[in-house]
Amino acid sequence: MKRTISIKLKVKSTQDTGKLLALKDAFTSACNQVVPFAMENRCWNRVALHNFCYTEVRKKSSLGSQMVCNAIFATCKAYKNRNINKSEEMPKIQFRKNSSVHFDKRTYSIKGNVLSLYTLEGRIKVEMKMGEFQQKYFSEGIPKEAELICRKGKWYFNLVLDLPDPELGQGQTMLGVDLGENNVVAMSSGKLVNGGEIRYRKDQYLGIRRRLQSNGSQSARQLLKRISGKEARWMRHVNHQLSNETIKEANKIGANVLILEDLKNIRQRIRGSKRMRTRLHRWSFAQFQTLLEYKAQAHGLGVMYINPAYTSQTCSSCGYLGERHRHRFTCNCGNQRHSDLNASRTLCRFALSADRATCAVNRTHVAAKR
Ligand SMILES: [Zn+2]
Repeated sequence: MKRTISIKLKVKSTQDTGKLLALKDAFTSACNQVVPFAMENRCWNRVALHNFCYTEVRKKSSLGSQMVCNAIFATCKAYKNRNINKSEEMPKIQFRKNSSVHFDKRTYSIKGNVLSLYTLEGRIKVEMKMGEFQQKYFSEGIPKEAELICRKGKWYFNLVLDLPDPELGQGQTMLGVDLGENNVVAMSSGKLVNGGEIRYRKDQYLGIRRRLQSNGSQSARQLLKRISGKEARWMRHVNHQLSNETIKEANKIGANVLILEDLKNIRQRIRGSKRMRTRLHRWSFAQFQTLLEYKAQAHGLGVMYINPAYTSQTCSSCGYLGERHRHRFTCNCGNQRHSDLNASRTLCRFALSADRATCAVNRTHVAAKR
């Protein structure tokens, strides 16, 4: 499982601050130099783009060779995140002042709580200020790539850690958490949280936003901005409540591992009307999971991610494909359940098989518990 921790940096001298700022500027302009090559060749593959532009960019840039590679990588990533369609024209991405600097293992190193960073004038050392949880993750995980960012004059190192997946040991109890359309959250314990009210409110916001967007006047734009901020705060509040409720349920049934879907693919999975898709598009599932993950860890619960493919079609009792009619799931084996509930239990089923594949421990009684 990968996890990013945002480490606050203590940059002591103004000289060091100057060096970091100079690096950030050089990196941003290198990225902007890569952009035309990406556009011209319609290419956001790292290796291919490297061949197109490395020599040229390196010549113009004050960055070292590895940092130029990182700039190419950052540009590829920015294009990848756009999910560009085949028919779509290549957009021009502009890297701005507040863009981050991508570091890989060759451009930074860590010793104790001292971070050594590449700059245009040699490496500098800065102290990392980690909280208790960050320290814990850091001691358990393997540091991977990172982003250096500056927010309001403060520096942060967003470091990706490769953390070991929690093992499903003897006597562990799982709680499958499925996120869906009708029920926002369905848990394998049988608890369902209806999303009707949230949907209603989302629709209201959507209506207001549509109206303001089509209006287009200055005051409408300002109001739109305010409303969007309000909506985001409300959504966050809802996600806090939902994650609290999930943790409460986990504690109630004595679960020690939460089984969640890997949501990178959720949008392809959820079908439905266009109206449904717009709604889901603005639904912050990812935020919910992040909050839940933090809270789970604070409560000593493990989190495991499962590929969500087929969870809604697979029978949680027998493991074969069943049939889904609206909210009802039926299988030839006799299993009949609410479809969201079935999905949440299937997650647990998949978690068990995924885990068995990697560690050969007999855990039959975990399966019996379900
Ligand atoms: Zn079945």
